[in-house]
Formats: sequence, structure tokens, C-alpha cells
Amino acid sequence: METDVLSRRHDEVRQGESFSPAEVLGYSSGRKFYIESYGCAMNFADSEVVASILQSSGYSATGDFTQADLVLINTCSIREKAEQTIRSRLHIFRQVKRSNPSMLIAVLGCMAERLKSKFLEEEKLVDLVVGPDAYRTLPLLIEEAEGGQQSVNVLLSRDETYADIAPVRLNSNGVNAFVSIMRGCNNMCSFCVVPFTRGRERSRNPGSILTECRNLFENGYREITLLGQNVDSYHWHSGEDGTAAVGFADLLETVAQVSPLLRVRFSTSHPKDITDHVLRAIARYENICNYIHLPVHSGSTRVLQRMNRTYTREWYMAKIRRIRELIPACGITSDIITGFCGETEEDHQETLSLMRESRFDMSYMYFYSERPGTLAARRYPDDIPESEKKRRLDEIVKLQNRMSQESNRDDLGTVSKVLIEGDSKKSASDWMGRNDQNKVVVFPKNGQHFQKGDYAFVKIDKCTGATLIGRSI
Ligand code: SAM
Ligand code: SF4
Repeated sequence: METDVLSRRHDEVRQGESFSPAEVLGYSSGRKFYIESYGCAMNFADSEVVASILQSSGYSATGDFTQADLVLINTCSIREKAEQTIRSRLHIFRQVKRSNPSMLIAVLGCMAERLKSKFLEEEKLVDLVVGPDAYRTLPLLIEEAEGGQQSVNVLLSRDETYADIAPVRLNSNGVNAFVSIMRGCNNMCSFCVVPFTRGRERSRNPGSILTECRNLFENGYREITLLGQNVDSYHWHSGEDGTAAVGFADLLETVAQVSPLLRVRFSTSHPKDITDHVLRAIARYENICNYIHLPVHSGSTRVLQRMNRTYTREWYMAKIRRIRELIPACGITSDIITGFCGETEEDHQETLSLMRESRFDMSYMYFYSERPGTLAARRYPDDIPESEKKRRLDEIVKLQNRMSQESNRDDLGTVSKVLIEGDSKKSASDWMGRNDQNKVVVFPKNGQHFQKGDYAFVKIDKCTGATLIGRSI
């Protein structure tokens, strides 16, 4: 299966990826940092901000943690499993530190607040703990830690967006890039820890977003994914210089106008917030991709209410119909959580039927993992046995696989405009890219003079559940 590491929001393949930037900026003091990232695309984008801050203070990157003076692990708390993985990585770093005591170990990101005293004081696993809004203070915290102090800054901010920091693109293919447009989340989905770990929602200055996108385009990038936990509630208003309010649809259009050769995607949309204004912008601009990731989480209104998602099954379905009306060729994918507190077999069947009706091209599917401090953890018992959660998840995954296969079969005989991202994983004599709907397309190079970042028209001849296979025409 071809797997694109860049456009998946919470890509299992990327978990624990370590990064080295293509070029080292600024001066180097000879000190080296190693960074490993977990979780969603926001976290991977944050690691690029951290790399930029560290490079400005003289660090260069290494992909080998045994050679590093500073080892950073950018953490995720979304599910229990992510926390377990990070704990075992910390034990490995700790072993290396035994033979190199001056090496510093830092925990960054979403786990910082909750586990700071455990990691620092009780287990003495780390030297620094830095929350997602405190990365600017890293150089200071490193100094403190070098002086033997335990360094912590987990304060959340109401306005930090790192707008002025140019991220260092890490492990980049030079074609796709993430651009963070907002941070935090004001929704209170009862299962979700994000509002507690990443704080209140705030939008980034549109001028700085546009500058970053223009620079990316000038440096050869051809696809930008605008990132936020809830991009549709992007809102910027500058009272001082009289600039009119900028909403998400306006931002999308402005970025699309950078160049018709620049593809624009975004993630993630909340069904309650995505407006006709946004849908019309997608329909109007050829380079805003016909693709929407619209997490549903459950097909049962009763469960959705418990999840505090603020929409019903019917409301969600009406939104899907509206998308297909305004953008007939739109790819739609979703997130589903199975085995949420109190979910009955009937609720589960409703999720399966909603999936069939919505005809998702792909979904990210998880079973519910209770997170300490969330509304659900406080209000509802986690009462579905793990074996039952897994059985339901299995049914959901099987259905989605069948639908993904059908969706790909519908594309047989059609022509896709494909942005080439690089060699196919299986064979260097094939190109791999994506079409407008975010489907992976593979086709033979066949002596044609394409390059990474070029667009190719590909006639689709074959498919698997995850990949379209064709030839350029
Ligand atoms: N903001 C997005 C939304 O509205 O869906 C997604 C953000 S969340 C960081 C990413 C995904 O992690 C969610 O869509 C959900 O499927 C999954 N997730 C979040 N909390 C979870 C939990 N407690 N158990 C299992 N999966 C969870
Ligand atoms: Fe979590 Fe809900 Fe916010 Fe998504 S919208 S980050 S699921 S609280």
C-alpha cells in the first residue's frame, strides 16, 4: 500500500518519526539536537517551529539520538497508547544519557502539562518539560537545565501563534507543506483532551500565513495544507489598522490566489462550522482541492449528544448532501470512534449505516480511549469491554475498506490530475502522487520528463483499496 506521510492527519506510519532538515540555517555552535514526533499533523508542524528556534540558537539537527546534546520528544496524549509509547522511548533515551550525562532530554507538547511532575520529579526521566505554547522559551530553559535545574514551562497562552517564526521544513519532500493557521480548540467534545492540552482557540495573522505560503511556493512547494483543530472557525480581526475581518473562506481564497499552480488543502473541519461560503470557494478555485475531511465520530444522535459534538445524525447527513450538491466531485473522509461510553449495538449499527450513506472515501477509525480530565472521563463510565470495542472497530474497518475499494473502482477509466510527490515506494521506475480528492495515484515514469512537483494527467486503469494505478496521457 502506498502511504503518504505528509497529508495524513494522524498517520500511524509517521509516529515517532525523527527529523533532519535538508539545510542548516544560521551558524552552528556544534551542538546537535534530535527531535522525534508523535500525534497529529499539528504536532509535526510544531516540531518544525521548534527546529527553527533551536537553529537560531546555534543547534544543528541530527537523525541519531546517540550523537545528540539535546533529545526532544514531541508528545501526543490523544489516546493511552501514545502515552505508553512515549514513556518507553524516554527509558531508552535515559539509558543513552547514562554514558553521556551532559545530554539533555526534553518532553514537548501535549503530555507536558499532565505528566510534568511525574517525568521530572518522580521518575526523573527528563530534564526539561515544555508545553505547546512555550517553545519560544526553549533557549532559556535549556540554559537553566544545563545549570542543573529542572526546567518547566507549560503555561498555555491566549495569543501565541508563532506567526513570525519561519518553520524549518523537516524531512520534506519539497512538494507538500503544512501551514499552521490557528492553535487550540474551543469545542468541548467530551472524549477529547485537546482543549486541555493545547488551550483556547486563536487564529494566526493572515499576513504571516500568506507570506509563509508565498515563500513555500517560491521555494518549489506545490501543495499547502492549512492546519488547525477546527479550521472553519478561523477568524482574524485587526481593529488597529482597520483591516476587515478575515474568515476561513477569505483566507482560503487569498492563499489560492498565490498561484494557480499551488494546490491548497485544509484540515480539520468541524461539521457544525463548515459553511457554504467555504464550499463555494472550493468549487470556484480549481486549485483548492475537492477534498474535505469531516469527522463524524458516530452515526447515532444519542452518542453524538454524549460526545458533545453539537450536531445530529440528520444534520451531518444534510451537510454531506450539501457538499455533494455544491462540489459534485468532492472526496470526503471521516474520523470514527467506536465503543464510546454507553454505545449500544443499535448505536453501532447506526454508525455503520451512516458510513454507507455518506460513502466516505477513507476514514481514520479508533476505539474509544478514556483520557483523564475530559468531560467523558468525569461524567460517563468507560463501560464497553475492550473485546467488544475491538469487534465493533473491526466491523467498521472492514466496511470502510470495502467502500474505499468501491470508491477507487468508480475511478477506473477516468483521468486524474496528479501532483507528483516522488518515487513510488515500491519501485523507483514509478511516480507516486495524489489527485484532487487526495487519492494516491501511481504511474510508470516511462521515459517521460516529469519531475517532483509537476502535474501529470493520468488515466486510471487499475486500483487497490488504497491506490489508483494508471499511465500518464
Ligand atoms: N478536531 C478534529 C475533530 O473535530 O474531529 C480532530 C482532532 S483529534 C486531535 C484527532 C482524532 O483523534 C479525533 O478526530 C478522534 O477521532 C481521535 N480521538 C480524540 N480523542 C479520542 C479518544 N479519547 N479516543 C479515541 N480517539 C480519539
Ligand atoms: Fe477535540 Fe472536538 Fe476540538 Fe476536535 S473539535 S480538537 S475533537 S475538542
